[in-house]
Amino acid sequence: SDLYRVDGWGAPYFTVNSSGDISVRPHGTDTLPHQEIDLLKVVKKASDPINSGGLGLQLPLVVRFPDVLKNRLESLQSVFDYAVQSQGYEAHYQGVYPVKCNQDRFVVEDIVKFGSGFRFGLEAGSKPELLLAMSSLCKGSPEGLLVCNGFKDAEYISLALVAGKLQLNTVIVLEQEEELDLVIQISRKMAVRPVIGLRAKLRTKHSGHFGSTSGEKGKFGLTTTQILRVVRKLKESEMLDCLQLLHFHIGSQIPTTALLGDGVGEAAQVYCELVRLGAGMKFIDIGGGLGIDYDGTKSPDSDASVGYGLQEYASSVVEAVRFVCDRKNVKHPVICSESGRAIVSHHSVLIFEAVSSTNNTRSQELSTVGLQSFVEKLHDDARADYRNLSAAAIRGEYDTCMLYSDQLKQRCVEQFKEGNLDIEHLAAVDGICDFVSNAIGASDPVRTYHVNLSIFTSIPDFWAIDQLFPIVPIHKLDVRPGARGILSDLTCDSDGKIDKFIGGESSLPLHELGSNGGCNGGPYYLGMFLGGAYEEALGGLHNLFGGPSVLRVSQSDSPHSFAVTCAIPGPSCADVLRAMQHEPELMFEMLKHRSEEFVNNEEKDKELAFASLTSSLNQSFHNMPYLATQSSCS
Ligand code: PLP
Repeated sequence: SDLYRVDGWGAPYFTVNSSGDISVRPHGTDTLPHQEIDLLKVVKKASDPINSGGLGLQLPLVVRFPDVLKNRLESLQSVFDYAVQSQGYEAHYQGVYPVKCNQDRFVVEDIVKFGSGFRFGLEAGSKPELLLAMSSLCKGSPEGLLVCNGFKDAEYISLALVAGKLQLNTVIVLEQEEELDLVIQISRKMAVRPVIGLRAKLRTKHSGHFGSTSGEKGKFGLTTTQILRVVRKLKESEMLDCLQLLHFHIGSQIPTTALLGDGVGEAAQVYCELVRLGAGMKFIDIGGGLGIDYDGTKSPDSDASVGYGLQEYASSVVEAVRFVCDRKNVKHPVICSESGRAIVSHHSVLIFEAVSSTNNTRSQELSTVGLQSFVEKLHDDARADYRNLSAAAIRGEYDTCMLYSDQLKQRCVEQFKEGNLDIEHLAAVDGICDFVSNAIGASDPVRTYHVNLSIFTSIPDFWAIDQLFPIVPIHKLDVRPGARGILSDLTCDSDGKIDKFIGGESSLPLHELGSNGGCNGGPYYLGMFLGGAYEEALGGLHNLFGGPSVLRVSQSDSPHSFAVTCAIPGPSCADVLRAMQHEPELMFEMLKHRSEEFVNNEEKDKELAFASLTSSLNQSFHNMPYLATQSSCS
């Protein structure tokens, strides 16, 4: 398991068990040994055919663990509670979950349910997100905040004011100065007094991977001058008491507590100034940014990690706010945070299958064409290269071999382009060069593993911003892998590959696949971990591969067992076609009509042939676009 650093990035939720499989500890450090869930058993349950007791779901598969989500929420609350208590902070912490990180209905509903005991709320950044947050919060804590961020038009603001009328604890956060006029006008018209927040553009800048949101040139928030204008306008409108929340967001994956403390301290100064200017301030909302240790290094210098844990994060925040407010004699505000990544990343695991690998088979053409015939066919200079290559290989001269091998290949390609070398001889030259490479130890040992997955749909941040996630075989971890590989997905796009892995590796240790795919006669499953935030929400439809199947799994009362509480097959070909405005029903009718027209008249049983054609067409519309692999076919 060391090879994959599971103990580093996986703790306290993932570990390798004595069977060599990844186990999930749904309650983190509070998980008892008999409560561990073997991930391989979950995948088998999901993918085995229905007639063998499985659920017949096709891979790729997202497995969600609501118990992990609950543990994340409770852990976040408890570290803040501890920081508040131990530092004598005179107000509480209450978090909100930014739904943009994963808008899945069950994820949002679970968060509202699990967080209702400690005033957990939601953050929305668009009108549909606001609608889903409003309806979800109807079942939440009455004190949970509904934070309305993002660009707003009159419709968004009216909806947020409606939420307030429905007694949802709504704060309209001004991201642009122009939003204020709309808020004043519409709230007057609706005869409501809104709760207003403002997003400050801090000077503190997060220089990391996710830092473009921060600093004076950041996309969002109000400058100091704009903040002062907003205060003036609210005062003129006799609404300064409505301004109750200060919001900022330095960027995701804040690398150090030093930078965090700096940003929070600056924001706390702004908060105190707003108090001095007469605003009805109550909340400081520190945005997101609580980082995840994707590579298990716990190092602020790694793009895939951060240099602190949950408790250090909470303590730094509380300390920075307390320090500033105490110096300015300002009542401690309620601290709110909008952690997304830190709440949902761990709870879901993406499982996919490696279906085949390139196996470095050398060209067999040399034995077909024969060495003598091959050499005779070459032009003089290519023949000289061949002789030099052979001599260098016998002497074991690595660099000279590489030189003549490249030169020989190039000359043969030219000869082929001129029409003076046939295709069998062109293949034979590859065979010779591969043979020499192997003999001198220069052949590339890295294979390409083909995986039943679309990177654009399921790991878009790898493609878009080079974000690394831990990827690990979920079984066979008691057997040392004999190969290394990169992963190539199903899309017809050369970007659809993963060739960077945690720890700065350009390939992943993997087990050997048999010639007909699979490993030791069974499927070979890989898991991508910590992708519960952003990946599902951002994924696209490139090549019309839809999303994966989804399984919701809870720890059950019987030992070493689990309960599947929800199983949703991934979208069918018809579903993804519909998403691009096609009409699968009409498409099917058209193809059916054409089948009728073109079924061969000589076919013995025309009707049977037609029925078989249309049934296979129908099936194709209803199946998922991914490869139907062994395990999911009955
Ligand atoms: N709040 C705001 C305003 C954001 O822009 C973001 C993400 O970029 C978040 C919260 C969530 O951040 P994170 O996932 O780092 O917790």
